Amino acid sequence: MRYRSPLFGCEIADLVALASIRSRGQALGDNSTRESGTMTDTQPIDTAGLRARYRLERDKRLRDDGNDQYLEPAGPFARFLDDPHVEKAPREPRFDEVTAVFIGGGFAGLCAGARMKQAGIHDVRIIEGGGDFGGAWYWNRYPGAMCDTASMVYLPLLEEVGHMPTMKYTFAPEIFAHAQNIGTEFGLYDGALFSTAVTSLTWQEDSARWLIRTDRGDEIRARFVAMGTGPLHRPKLPGIPGIDGFEGECFHTSRWDYGYTGGNSAGAPMNGLTDRRVGIIGTGATAVQCIPHLARDADQLFVFQRTPSSIDIRHNHPIDTDWFKGLETGWQHEWLTNFATLQTGGFADDDLVKDGWTDISQRIRDRVLVEMARPGTEPGPDLLQRAYESSDDEKMAEIRARVDEVVDDPATAEALKPWYRQLCKRPCFHDEYLQAYNEPGVNLVDTDGKGVERIDATGVWVAGVHYEVDCLILASGFEVGTDQARRSGFETTGRDGLTLTEYWADGMQSLHGIHVHGFPNLFIAGLSQGANLISNITHNLSEAATTIAAVITHALETGVDQVEVTQAAELAWVEMLDGNTRSFLGNPDCTPGYYNNEGRPTGRRERLNASGYPDGAAAYFEYIERWRRSGDFEGLEFS
Ligand code: NDP
Repeated sequence: MRYRSPLFGCEIADLVALASIRSRGQALGDNSTRESGTMTDTQPIDTAGLRARYRLERDKRLRDDGNDQYLEPAGPFARFLDDPHVEKAPREPRFDEVTAVFIGGGFAGLCAGARMKQAGIHDVRIIEGGGDFGGAWYWNRYPGAMCDTASMVYLPLLEEVGHMPTMKYTFAPEIFAHAQNIGTEFGLYDGALFSTAVTSLTWQEDSARWLIRTDRGDEIRARFVAMGTGPLHRPKLPGIPGIDGFEGECFHTSRWDYGYTGGNSAGAPMNGLTDRRVGIIGTGATAVQCIPHLARDADQLFVFQRTPSSIDIRHNHPIDTDWFKGLETGWQHEWLTNFATLQTGGFADDDLVKDGWTDISQRIRDRVLVEMARPGTEPGPDLLQRAYESSDDEKMAEIRARVDEVVDDPATAEALKPWYRQLCKRPCFHDEYLQAYNEPGVNLVDTDGKGVERIDATGVWVAGVHYEVDCLILASGFEVGTDQARRSGFETTGRDGLTLTEYWADGMQSLHGIHVHGFPNLFIAGLSQGANLISNITHNLSEAATTIAAVITHALETGVDQVEVTQAAELAWVEMLDGNTRSFLGNPDCTPGYYNNEGRPTGRRERLNASGYPDGAAAYFEYIERWRRSGDFEGLEFS
């Protein structure tokens, strides 16, 4: 019998065979030990008291409207979607046909395009709403933007493009440039349509083609269509009363207005803020990265906090060129497998990445081993649960202790402490964020879980106090729980006029998260119903891209018109996923956020939308590679 932890898919049976699991890796060319964790003398933890505090903090934040508390950037708020980076130059509409269209020019589209080009499919067209490739990294150019996942595993196709990341964690401009380089290397700029939003995608049974309509008047036919339009794509705005009445400068972090602030995405001083009072709403992963820059450049900064993020050590450093040159061909696949394995509870001799993501699972494994060494200890879910809980309690105690170490003002430090389990919200890693609160002119306005009360023409109200600001920055995140059509901005209509929204009304249904019955020749590149590896999103996307390219290539080589998952195969996959505890949805006991449906009850729909392969990401990647290699494409019907 195999036991798995709810979060890590850890298999107890393997534990017995493990004598030692230690980080021996010469990771990143340095000899540093694990780059996370701060507290050396572990204090005994009052578990009952801690749980009570966690519940208290969660209950404060629970609200009936859940996801509905947010405003859509539409109607009067549509301007929040405008592209600040390029002018939308007029062009003639296109009326033509290509073999394959990919909707979305982020890493999913780039990887799929690259794999198709490698397979000899030349007329691949990427359609992208932004003015260039890059996806999230095209839009998110706020100061300080960087990737929380180590560049060696986050940046796809590094070996193919021949790029050595400059730092362990790279900044956004380098990631954006890497996306552009993939586009150039694989000839994906040819035929790409930028600043073009798809408005509808419709299957045409007679010709067995997809018809793609866009906001440029295009009508493009394609034999195969794939899409990678998320998951964190569409900005959401906080539904704070009066938000539409603010008369100062206001923008969402994903549309940073350097015209107003000055500076640039490389972190140059924002001279436009020198004599300005700036307010920022939100303290999630995005705000954590841009707040140190605002603290440096604004005259006054007001950070409006509803829930503090957990801030672990970043410890960034350059990558050693000589060490990098010594890596053997195929290194990236090894690193990806190693990271996915360790991060989702598996075992490996070396921890190549060694970061905050692998740290927690390492602690769990170490604890299990200690317990297993005690005579009479039975392996089982209880043991894993205990190991997970005590590792997490220890980690969060360290994170709170770090706040005290760094932040000078005790009241500010207290307000910055997160009271929830680390994976309740996106863990953050930063070495300048907490320090920013020691800067003169930086004011933390903690709302004690309630959020901003209201906004008026000149500023922000919290607990009856008015904070006057010239500029209001919304670091309020992206839509997660809403319908796919709303998030991508277009509806997909398959066989017999059935829309994806209708088909997925009770939750996503697919094989591997990629193929959907009733939607032939259509492929989806995402996380859900596949590996669902949240710590390294691009790994999900690049694997999906490889799968999509393999299936399309097979269809073309065998001269078939249509490929579609059978209903039986889809059903079997969905049934396997349903009931599995391994879900992207966090614990319902967590403080609300997009990891747990904003604390609202979850049913089958939410479970399916956030589900992943029961045996974990590493097992999924192994499985899908076998599935592709077999050449049988089991579950698909080619006709
Ligand atoms: P988040 O959804 O994580 O954060 C939104 C913030 O806005 C939260 O702090 C939220 O508070 C706050 N908020 C919402 N409404 C109000 C209100 N009415 N009053 C006050 N505060 C409010 O969005 P982010 O853009 O920060 O991050 C989104 C995701 O993007 C991350 O989870 C991560 O996956 C990804 N990302 C990744 C990075 C990387 O390094 N790889 C960097 C940046 C982002 P509350 O918590 O209480 O809901």
